[in-house]
This record gives sequence, C-alpha cells and structure tokens, in this order.
Amino acid sequence: MSELVVTGLDAGYGGAQVLHDVTFTVGEGEICAILGPNGAGKTTLLRALSGMVKGRGGVRLGGVELLGRPPDALARMGVAHVPEGRGTFMPLTVEENLRLGAYTRRDGLEQDLDRIYTYFPALKPRLKQAAGSLSGGEQQMLALGRALMLRPRLLLLDEPSLGLAPLVTRELFRIVRTINEQERTTVVVVEQNAHLALGVAQRAHVLETGRIVLSGTAAQIRQDEQVAQSYLGYR
Ligand code: ATP
Repeated sequence: MSELVVTGLDAGYGGAQVLHDVTFTVGEGEICAILGPNGAGKTTLLRALSGMVKGRGGVRLGGVELLGRPPDALARMGVAHVPEGRGTFMPLTVEENLRLGAYTRRDGLEQDLDRIYTYFPALKPRLKQAAGSLSGGEQQMLALGRALMLRPRLLLLDEPSLGLAPLVTRELFRIVRTINEQERTTVVVVEQNAHLALGVAQRAHVLETGRIVLSGTAAQIRQDEQVAQSYLGYR
C-alpha cells in the first residue's frame, strides 16, 4: 500500500514557518499535482515529505509515519525525490549516476538498469558519457531514471519542466505517466506549467503562502476561474 496521507503538516526553516496545516491525500498509484505561485512553499512541501526539512503533523505512506525519519531512511522506505535542478552528479557518467540511485540495495541492479533504458532509450548510448555533457532534457530523464533505481513507492518531482523545451517536457510527462501506470508508483509533482501537470494528474492542490487554498480533480481545478487566470493564462 502506498497511499500518501498528509494531515495538518507544518514545516519551515528554523523559526520561519512556511507550511501551515497542509492536508491532502494521494491514492495509491495516483498522480497529484501541486500548483501555486513562486514562494508558495511547493518545494518546501516536497522537502518535508522526503525528510529534508523537519515537519510537524502527519505524513503517512501506506499507513506508516514518515515524519521524524532522516532522508536516507525514507529513501529505503521507497521515497524518491527528484529535486529542482535535478541533483545529478555532473562529473560522473550516466551509468554511475543510475547505479548511485540504487544505493539502498544491491540486488537486481542490472535488471533495473534495463528497465530504465526501456523508459529512456536515449540514455543507453550515453552510458559512459559524463552526465554534465547531456542536454537539459536528457539530464532530467537521468534524474528520473536515478530515482526509479530506488524502486520508489512514492515519487516526488520538483518542477521537472524547468528550462526544458515544450516538446521535451511533453515527452517527459508522457514517461512519468507510463511509469505511474506500469509500476503503480504514487507521484506528487510540483509544476509551474499547470497545463501539463493537470494533463497527467488525477487530482491537484493549489498552494498559496503555505496553505492549500483549492483542491479538486484535475478537471475541477482546470475549470476554476481563478486558477485559469493565475496559472493557465486564459479567461
Ligand atoms: P518556487 O517556485 O519559487 O521554488 P516554492 O513554492 O517552491 O517557490 P519554496 O521554495 O518552498 O516555494 O519557498 C517557500 C518559502 O520558504 C519562501 O518564502 C522562501 O524564501 C523560503 N525558503 C525556501 N528555502 C529556504 C531555506 N533554505 N531557508 C530559509 N527559507 C527558505
């Protein structure tokens, strides 16, 4: 079971509270989009879910409390975070980056690498190349591939479209959808590009100044007048 249940989550940095009483549920195998303006706390939310910032309240994955555990323990429990800026190790090769993604275990690595190449065939001819020599789109695919090496139950994606050409971004979201469907991975995606995010997500939440101000199915959120004005650029 990989249902994510976030209840009354408060989080922040030192004395500065960023998230206030954030509550939402992502069903097992669902994709959930988090929308909102710059500085709303979207990145902080993902960091709280992966143990990188401390939080208070409840974050349960498959009924098990995640809050209070360090990031490496959460990684072992199947929480994979692809941060904004991707977090790939530029001087290392593509293959080394992928193998690093499986640092929580030793078995089945070759099989998992094959699985990654099926999702991202463009990476296969580049295995021995330094990650730094890849295009932006390939680096984002590598970051996603590295996260998949963890065999995640919960995949956290921060602004995957950042800096990528529209065509590359669409391809990336198509792959995220395929992964979600084939592996039943629960996904939380933070995205400035609301069109794209609402195209793949079943449900979405709008975060403003650290609070969820609107929640609904992707279709409901798309129809919301204010969201349309603020994030979709029409009406
Ligand atoms: P963006 O789309 O610009 O990344 P966001 O919605 O992801 O925005 P956050 O990055 O979570 O927002 O930032 C929320 C608030 O937390 C902002 O006011 C920001 O200045 C603050 N903040 C972010 N990171 C830190 C940090 N490491 N230390 C202190 N404050 C931080």
